[in-house]
Amino acid sequence: MRAAVLSGYNEPLSIENVPEPACPEDGVVLKVLACGVCRSDWHGWTGEHPRIKPGQIGGHEYCGEVVAAGPVAQYATGDRLIAPFILACGACANCRAGESNTCLDQRLPGFTEPGAFAEFVAVPRDHNLARLPEDMMPTLAAALGCRVTTAWHALTDRAALQPGEWLAIHGTGGIGLSAMLLGIALGARVIVTDVVEEKLTHAKALGAEHAIDASDGGSAKRIREVTGGGAHVSVEALGFPVTQSASLACLRPLGRHVQVGMPIGHHAVQEVDLNAVYMQNLAIFGSRGMPVHRYPSLLSLIEAGRVDLSPIVAREVKLSDTSAELAAFNGPNQPGIAVITDFTA
Ligand SMILES: [Zn+2]
Ligand SMILES: [Zn+2]
Repeated sequence: MRAAVLSGYNEPLSIENVPEPACPEDGVVLKVLACGVCRSDWHGWTGEHPRIKPGQIGGHEYCGEVVAAGPVAQYATGDRLIAPFILACGACANCRAGESNTCLDQRLPGFTEPGAFAEFVAVPRDHNLARLPEDMMPTLAAALGCRVTTAWHALTDRAALQPGEWLAIHGTGGIGLSAMLLGIALGARVIVTDVVEEKLTHAKALGAEHAIDASDGGSAKRIREVTGGGAHVSVEALGFPVTQSASLACLRPLGRHVQVGMPIGHHAVQEVDLNAVYMQNLAIFGSRGMPVHRYPSLLSLIEAGRVDLSPIVAREVKLSDTSAELAAFNGPNQPGIAVITDFTA
């Protein structure tokens, strides 16, 4: 099968013919219908992700059709499935507590085993998977594996966002846009910040009440002004120190900061204004992935037409375009995300 393989950090992925994956006993092999290109893939490509080494096939946001099922799998050939990027064990203490995204024994296709930048991907532990809703495009479903689910978990389970609250989102990449659309659907008043004018215009057109240019460093002050005292909830969607500090600084007293962007590599350790946390009685939440049992709540909202997530997907690309899409994360990039849908070119 064709796969895009990491041959060296910051170098074009190598499009190779590799053996098709073996079918796991407790899982399936999916023919990949769509796979998103995510900032986490970029972290791996630049060499800053601790687990991604040369030889890796990336791709952790996928949707596919079952072509082989193991003897104890729950799904059958022909089923169309979506997967969270964390494949939890289902048996450890955290899984039993319903927090499968903090599983003590995680398997991570695209990070620690071959991912979906390929025609086929092996997915063990298929109890983590969910059926693709009838009328959902695979292209959109691919974004559910990582960015949309992470945003849903951040807003609902972590920040407990309430209707009428001000929600500030720092960075309008895939996860920022997801958080924006879900926040609007949950009844919040949403403000976004970015440094790319086209992305601000795009976010405004999709329902952001305010879209603030953060390039002058004054975004937190502007947010406190337009909200009359600060946001109730603020989502950091990039993992950068400058957006983290703006996110904390834009909050009103008792505000909740959610760290959704992945601070990694040279951004792993950052300065935090703990005096503001103390004086303003702020809360800081971390959020990574989503517990599997939260899929129905999210899919139900989408199926009922309460939120249209399709604007997140900006373009469908070929497998051979993956390198260019990864390189685009090197600087401020275009609105929306890229999803690979053609694995033969
Ligand atoms: Zn991701
Ligand atoms: Zn577990």
